[in-house]
Amino acid sequence: MLDNLSSRFQEIFKKVRGHGKLSESNIKEALREVKMSLLEADVNYKVVKDFTAKVRDKAIGTDVLQGINPGQQFIKIVNDELVELLGGTNSRLTKGVRKPTIIMLAGLQGAGKTTFAAKLGNYLKKQGEKVLMVAGDVYRPAAIKQLQVLGEQTKIDVYAEEDNKNVVEICEHGLEKAHELGSTYMIIDTAGRLHIDEQLMQELDDVRKKVRPQEILLVVDAMIGQDAVNLAESFNKVLSIDGIVLTKFDGDTRGGAALSIKSVVGKPIKFIGVGEKIDDLELFHPERVVSRILG
Ligand code: GDP
Repeated sequence: MLDNLSSRFQEIFKKVRGHGKLSESNIKEALREVKMSLLEADVNYKVVKDFTAKVRDKAIGTDVLQGINPGQQFIKIVNDELVELLGGTNSRLTKGVRKPTIIMLAGLQGAGKTTFAAKLGNYLKKQGEKVLMVAGDVYRPAAIKQLQVLGEQTKIDVYAEEDNKNVVEICEHGLEKAHELGSTYMIIDTAGRLHIDEQLMQELDDVRKKVRPQEILLVVDAMIGQDAVNLAESFNKVLSIDGIVLTKFDGDTRGGAALSIKSVVGKPIKFIGVGEKIDDLELFHPERVVSRILG
């Protein structure tokens, strides 16, 4: 994951360290390379421009050029700005006062919603929570079965209605079930389409208005790069999402989605999916991701 970006940055830093003393033109050259590397990683153009401008302002300040170890200071500035770009700190899940806390998942088909529902359920269960997963992906019959199988595997309750296509109704019944079972969290898996369409958005909005989830997470495949930004903006406009889950971070992702999304959409990445198995889930820690990139 992020291998290309990582090796590009390491090359740039090696050069910077090699200079001993840094001149303004050394820094400009390094910045040009940083910019190219980020663009190659499919980071949004405006994000790259703002990022390099910030690093330039800090690095060209006399403190860095005249400091004891200018190379190291330049690297620290890049490090800190990358952490900022990724959202600064880890953003936690909301925990509502009323029970259950309702988490609704949204996203395109194949993004990894159903898998994430079970990963999240399992993560919460390990923290002592009692979870109910609601099968709201009613258009893909296999999705209901998939959630039920995952529920059996993880020993997490699943609420499904095979013959009902009314998601709002299913969620309302699911909520009754959650009260009956004493669930502390209810996770709603929803339907996705290949593309965003009005019907999908309307349906998600209906669920949102009726069931009032405390947290709406948009599940996005990290492999789609900066397209994730447009996607997240469209969902955010209608649903006002609370956070983003980037799946398939274990794959050959260049980093464009992760590095663009927070500063364009303004919503934090909360989790990353790092594999197909139930335990392949990590809380998103910006500083950890940056240390993976910078090595
Ligand atoms: P949905 O249509 O959004 O519900 O997507 P699914 O949960 O069915 O996932 C689609 C495919 O992506 C499945 O083959 C999953 O095993 C796979 N998948 C989901 N999350 C991850 C991940 O973090 N890493 C990898 N490598 N594969 C994932």
